[in-house]
Amino acid sequence: MSISLNEEATPTEPDTALILEHLPGLVWTTDATGTISYCNTRLGEYAGIDFGMSRSSHWASVLHPDDAMYAVQYGQSARRTKGHTVINARLRRNDGEFRWFELSASPLADGGKVCWLATELHESASDRTQEEIESRFRRFVNSLSVPALLITPAFELEFANQAALRWYGFLPEGSEQEALADMEPRKFDEILLPLKAHMKGEQTAVVSYQAQHADGTPRWLEAQVVPILEKSGELTNYFVLQNDVQDSRDAAYLLGKEMEILDMVARGTPSASVLQELCNVVDDLIPDLLCCFLELSLDRKFFRMGAAPRLPSEFREIFDRKSVAADKNACSFAALTKKAVEIQNLVETDHSNTSMGQFMLANKLNYCRAIPILSPYGNTAGIFAILRQQHFELKPRELQIVDRVAHIAGISIDRTRHEEALVKRETQFKRSQAQLVAAQRISSTGSFTSDIQRGENIWSEEFYRIFDLDPELEPSIDAVRERIHPEDLELFNVEMQRGLAGEGSDFVFRIIRTDASVRFIRGLAKVTHYIGDHPIFMGTVQDITETKRAEDALRRGEEALLKAREELAYVSRAMTISALTTSIAHEVSQPLSGILANANACVRLLALDPPDIASAADTARRTIRDTMRATEVVKRLRAMFNRQSPAMDEIDLNEIAREVIALSARDMRERSIVLESGLASGLPSVRGDRIQLQQVILNLVLNGIEAMVEIEGRPRRLLVLTSREEEMVTLSIVDAGVGIAADSAERLFEPFFTTKRNGMGIGLSISRSIIENHGGSMWATPNDGPGTTVTFSIPRTPPLAPSV
Ligand code: ADP
Repeated sequence: MSISLNEEATPTEPDTALILEHLPGLVWTTDATGTISYCNTRLGEYAGIDFGMSRSSHWASVLHPDDAMYAVQYGQSARRTKGHTVINARLRRNDGEFRWFELSASPLADGGKVCWLATELHESASDRTQEEIESRFRRFVNSLSVPALLITPAFELEFANQAALRWYGFLPEGSEQEALADMEPRKFDEILLPLKAHMKGEQTAVVSYQAQHADGTPRWLEAQVVPILEKSGELTNYFVLQNDVQDSRDAAYLLGKEMEILDMVARGTPSASVLQELCNVVDDLIPDLLCCFLELSLDRKFFRMGAAPRLPSEFREIFDRKSVAADKNACSFAALTKKAVEIQNLVETDHSNTSMGQFMLANKLNYCRAIPILSPYGNTAGIFAILRQQHFELKPRELQIVDRVAHIAGISIDRTRHEEALVKRETQFKRSQAQLVAAQRISSTGSFTSDIQRGENIWSEEFYRIFDLDPELEPSIDAVRERIHPEDLELFNVEMQRGLAGEGSDFVFRIIRTDASVRFIRGLAKVTHYIGDHPIFMGTVQDITETKRAEDALRRGEEALLKAREELAYVSRAMTISALTTSIAHEVSQPLSGILANANACVRLLALDPPDIASAADTARRTIRDTMRATEVVKRLRAMFNRQSPAMDEIDLNEIAREVIALSARDMRERSIVLESGLASGLPSVRGDRIQLQQVILNLVLNGIEAMVEIEGRPRRLLVLTSREEEMVTLSIVDAGVGIAADSAERLFEPFFTTKRNGMGIGLSISRSIIENHGGSMWATPNDGPGTTVTFSIPRTPPLAPSV
């Protein structure tokens, strides 16, 4: 037998050591950590361990696992309270069998050490059975997966099962080995104190309290407390079954909040408030997480701040109304790729260069996850971003919360977007509706939809107005029929029959309005679709009375134009003949002198000896007669075609120019010519012959039109300009036609000069003579660009001489 002491061993007195060696029990000392610092040989032999060799053995290693927990506890409390404690526990014999011992723990004055003396118990059979029962009970409790505790009637912890040890973090997850050395009994105060306060007598009870979980977070527990009584009725223990109710509390809270928030969504609360509330939920459930929501504009080009209650205001500035593609930060990335972006350690990524990265650095946030919120059509509608100081894998509970929150945010954002889109569409619709009404009003066109067979009709506002019907009136074909002009009623009925047969129609009819006015209406209808087998018509009714009047006026204008042209042709002819007469006169006077010379010769013949009187006289008579006749012809022609002096009226050149433009408007339209006029205001009047001057202008306009007929590839524009130059009033017709050569400008005015197949070549020469007759002049010049300008100017009416 030997005494085994390790280096720092106490006791040091050899006598004491001998005493201890000869005591009839197992003796050892433990230090503050529970490590055996001394033991006698009996313990070594009993346990089969050479404690001298195996240093730093925790004394729990010789204890039965079921007893270790509370036995170690007792040792600690003996050490703390410096009082003597006696407990029963099983110690492992060298053959592996456990024997019951009475352990007496005595604190040593020296440095928190405890001296243990274990005496083997030779208990009665019934005691043993009792202990076995107890041991079996503990084994059972230990096998429970629910944390369970045994508490003494004095509210001290006696035993904690493995699940409890794991929950509190005294046993690593999944570990079966006992690791009691670092157990902090005070942790159990979180249950002991409320229990002490709560437990009255021996009733079972349910106690709720918060305790710190192995992961460091406080969690709510709900404990079933059952008092364990002896046969005698004496309370031996409280049995405590701990239920971790944090998850179900969270779930209930989350569910409650979900209902509340979904209710907000259903009531149409703007998404900003809903998102704010969702952030608060996350705050409550995962306090170390910072979260925010960004929404995307309807065109998905811009971010809008949704909610970020706990983030500094700079965060808003980074995103609110900023382009989604502005920089490649996590939120933009997630929005564009529609995939969640996770940054576990910001400083290690190039995200730190982005505006959001800079913000995170400045706020010591190293972890971020940007989750896209997708619309039902798969487009990004928003972003849910969560930020943390450092990366922790999201726990299943946290993931669930984040998922639920993102889901509800999606519903809310989606709803807001729909509402926005709806409002936008409604505004657009109202605008286009207003436009349609205005357009119908301006064009005097009403519209209708009609199911003739069923007698169902929808009329536009303008429809009612055109037919002069009360807007409150139920639409019906009969109401329209009442307005139809009696003479057109048959036509109208025939068209309705065509409609019933499913044919479209396009016809003009008259209606009589309540003020007895007759209006011309053009009705147009087409089958657009069928409901069952009856055709549905859509169509328009247009009040074409004004157009018809204008057309009639135009027709009258055209007739007038025709007449004007005929007159011009007449005058042209007259003027031509007048010009011809001049040349004929010139031509005729030459032969006349010849005739006269012949007559003289004839006279000379008569003077011959003998004179041939008879033939000479005949010749002379014939000659004289012809001469007289020729002279008479010339005279008569002159008399007939001699220009009468023009009727001199006060004339506004602008006014007659406008009249000519109106007359030639149709010609221009047909030839796709655009007329522009630059008629000077305040133009002084001229004195002249209205018809003649109109003929001149018409001639110039027609020449301009004809010069542009063949032109392709440039605008055909005709410009009519008037101006005043000192005492003269000038009118120019500028065309963009074939143009003239600079040196042929004068030839245009020569009579019979023409380049046209059917031209007479007298229009310009007559025009010039008319203008000259008015004391003016006329000339043509090639334009700088394409085309020609023909101008005339005539003197203005002299202002009235001041009366003396
Ligand atoms: P007509 O039109 O019958 O030929 P006009 O005396 O009016 O007779 O015109 C004489 C000619 O002058 C035309 O054939 C044409 O060659 C030329 N002419 C007249 N006006 C223009 C014009 N605006 N541009 C180019 N050539 C013109």
